[in-house]
Amino acid sequence: MFMSTAGAIDFQKLRIDGIYQQDKEGNLMLRVKVPAGVISGLQAKRVAAISERFSNGVLHLTSRGSIELHWVQWPDLPAVTSELTAVGLTSRGACGGAVRGISCSTGLSEGFGEVQVLARKLQRHFAGNPHFEGLPKKFKIAVEGSYEGSRHLIQDLGLVYLGTEDGQRWYDVWAAGGLGRQPTEAFKLAGRVAENRVIPIVEAVVRVYKTHTPKPKRLKHLVQKIGEQRFRELVEVEPAFGKTLEIATPLDGALTAKGERVVVPVFAGELAAADMNRLADLADEHAGGYLTLTADQDVALFVDGESGGDALRKALDEAGFGGPQVTFRVCPGNHECCMGLSATRDVTRQVVEALGAKGREAVWAISGCPNSCSQPQLGDYGIITSKLVSGDGGKKAPRFDLYRREGKAFGQAIRQGLSLEQLLAAVGEIG
Ligand code: SF4
Repeated sequence: MFMSTAGAIDFQKLRIDGIYQQDKEGNLMLRVKVPAGVISGLQAKRVAAISERFSNGVLHLTSRGSIELHWVQWPDLPAVTSELTAVGLTSRGACGGAVRGISCSTGLSEGFGEVQVLARKLQRHFAGNPHFEGLPKKFKIAVEGSYEGSRHLIQDLGLVYLGTEDGQRWYDVWAAGGLGRQPTEAFKLAGRVAENRVIPIVEAVVRVYKTHTPKPKRLKHLVQKIGEQRFRELVEVEPAFGKTLEIATPLDGALTAKGERVVVPVFAGELAAADMNRLADLADEHAGGYLTLTADQDVALFVDGESGGDALRKALDEAGFGGPQVTFRVCPGNHECCMGLSATRDVTRQVVEALGAKGREAVWAISGCPNSCSQPQLGDYGIITSKLVSGDGGKKAPRFDLYRREGKAFGQAIRQGLSLEQLLAAVGEIG
């Protein structure tokens, strides 16, 4: 066990506060929850300042719209937590057995403005609520603006917005999906559910998960074991299930990112604190003071004014932010993650270099191990670092599986066990 000046640290206990042990030296990763990925300029600047003071001056944007800070030190955690709390941010439940940050797809779906409202309600209900902590493992919820991208398939609970009728928003509810070493597509638990029924249903599912699933299993394992029918029965007898929560107000629609969307590409989700500060200034000036962290680890600014996005694009250009690049979700890999088998950012640079015109138009994702945090099975092409093998002089070398997705379901491996050279040749063949 790692020893600090304060004595032995129980990293398992720290997880509920959004903290993972990054390596054996005791460096820590802290994950900040950002519901729907929408963060104010003020909050963004505070996270940038924390990064400069207590981390390495770089923010890692995740594919769930959260922010990770690496290289954080144990003695600094109280100050970091205090700084986050001061601007209404939390890392509570961002790791460990809890309801994780509520993510939203920030694809081009029309429904993004609507689903942010539900994401914030879910965050308020579940984040830091002791009733929903101490779960067998993580519990991931996403509110999707449409079926585009199929991200509902990888959630413990995926809520897909169908539209607004009779003053009510309506959702399909999907359950028990997940990636990792046993990728499992979610199944449809309920169709066309009114928004005032969503939180009670989510609560019922979380309680069934907590009560009936052994640690450290995900919801998908419970459903595989007892079957969909039995799972439905358990959910429907939960006291919360039949309730409605009439909590809509005329202010629900305020404070949302809306309008014309301008995306700022961020390579591998690695954003320098200084760049985050500049983007926060531009958000204040052009985008109502809000930034949105996208599912592809970029930053989007929504311009809701008469001038549209032209003035913002010009300002971004003048500030040195680059234009379009290959859409490529990248997990930290062995740059920062103790599970990582490959240097994902280095591999990504080489893959991008090897791509032809057709390959550059596709959506890509690479993960440093089979845990699949960057969702490679949902890219047009995905790369999973599957194992290490002994290479020259006993040095370990990564092997890669290449995935291809053509329909709505998960992508499937089309090449397996590739060396880096073979991977680069294979991606070059795409055209
Ligand atoms: S996919 Fe593996 S290497 Fe990448 S962040 Fe997740 S656990 Fe770490």
